[in-house]
Amino acid sequence: MKNLSRKGATAQSDSVKLEFSFASLRLCGRNTLFVAILLIFSALFIAPASSSSAFYDVVILNGRVIDPESRTDTVRNLGISNGAIKTISTSNLNGRTVIDARGLVVSPGFIDLHQHGQDDENYRFKAMDGVTTALELEVGTGDVDAWYAQRDGKSLINYGVSAGHLAARMAAMHEPVTFLPTGDAARRSATDAEIAEMKQRLEDGLKRGAIAVGFGIQYTPNASRWEILEMFRVAARYNASCHVHMRHAGVKEPGSSIQALEELIAAATITGAPLHVVHIQSTGGPATPKLLQMIAEARSRGLDVTTECYPYIAGMTDIKSAIFDEGWQEVFNIDYKDLQWAATGERLTKETFEKYRRTGGMVAVFSMTEEIVAAAIKSPLTMIASDGILERGKGHPRTAGTYSRVLGNYVRDKGALTLMEALTKMTLMPAQRLERRVPMMKNKGRIRVGADADLTIFDLRSITDKSTFQDPAQYAEGIRFVLVNGVLIVKDGGLQSDVHPGRAVRAPF
Ligand SMILES: [Zn+2]
Repeated sequence: MKNLSRKGATAQSDSVKLEFSFASLRLCGRNTLFVAILLIFSALFIAPASSSSAFYDVVILNGRVIDPESRTDTVRNLGISNGAIKTISTSNLNGRTVIDARGLVVSPGFIDLHQHGQDDENYRFKAMDGVTTALELEVGTGDVDAWYAQRDGKSLINYGVSAGHLAARMAAMHEPVTFLPTGDAARRSATDAEIAEMKQRLEDGLKRGAIAVGFGIQYTPNASRWEILEMFRVAARYNASCHVHMRHAGVKEPGSSIQALEELIAAATITGAPLHVVHIQSTGGPATPKLLQMIAEARSRGLDVTTECYPYIAGMTDIKSAIFDEGWQEVFNIDYKDLQWAATGERLTKETFEKYRRTGGMVAVFSMTEEIVAAAIKSPLTMIASDGILERGKGHPRTAGTYSRVLGNYVRDKGALTLMEALTKMTLMPAQRLERRVPMMKNKGRIRVGADADLTIFDLRSITDKSTFQDPAQYAEGIRFVLVNGVLIVKDGGLQSDVHPGRAVRAPF
């Protein structure tokens, strides 16, 4: 009502102005030309200015708009200009590009907190799975500036990185900085001087806008508890969440995932650093429900602890890493036959395991049950994050299928969780995880006026992951349109070439 009466008042005062102008025209004959020019001027500039504000770069019409922050789930039209959502409306909107979203879900773009593959090949598969922001927060980098510079202006989707403890440890121990350590940094304890250097390197990275601090403690089993605490202390000073692959997997004591989570909750309590436990289901295995209970209890005492999972019964890692040191069969409760060589798809034997262990390469580890995975996905505590990486088409199907698999398999087919719950785990929760340190994340993971126009539009009836352990490089189906900063990167289910609207997600520096 308020708006209506205000509109009426404006219309009235406009007509008064117009009458006044005509009166001036009659009264002051010699000023006719001046007034006429004034009128033409107003017609040319004032009128188009008001109508252009209702002409958008992109409009999305009649979609089922879901916003987890406001719990909106209703049919609306969206108007997008200059990379941001400008209006959410029930009235018809006009724009240069019109997307008919009738029958489709319009969601905030998915935010993947755990994506290792950060190149064109990987970004294409992420886009086709609905991901608009892919962040490498577990392993991270040792050179934040160089990492961002490599992607600046060249990326399909938004990207970002943490300062990595693994990289800092490799550098402090004077070995080449690779993805995962396999030399000294993987196996020996650090001197006080080396710990001091690692701290300095993490601090340098945070000062250059690294989003978080990443850890892979299972890959550095001789990193002392004190070393980890020291790294948490640095993170705490910068409000940086610690994204941690825990020290131990499984249930076998001593050295269970429960003990590993105790170490991290203690470190978060002592230092005040926010804690984010990565891929809880693949580390926890059968202990996953207990780990989730521990996180819920820690949160109920006011601790900032969060976690994530992905929807597959196998993990994947480098066969050369410390994870496969003596005793791995007991830790994961598996044998050689439960390992699948990614390059060929073959299941391993004692002989082939030893052969590949010498050369190195990615291996899938079938260590989980469907019940554990479903329990992790259903838990209100978990975000969805892929842990994805593809190299020349080889890798884990989670890279290309994590989000469509949760939506198709767990939401639509199994009814394990609601669409609102699933989208909350894919959009709002990951944005909130980071926004204390990275304020720009307050404009992601939401559909509201002023939010970034990162949007994923999909067909819930047909959304399906197509990637498999045999053939992981298969685009998901059912993602119909994806926008990154207002630019279409997926249109009618097809990837757009030659667009690079992705921007850096980076803390202020
Ligand atoms: Zn990991």
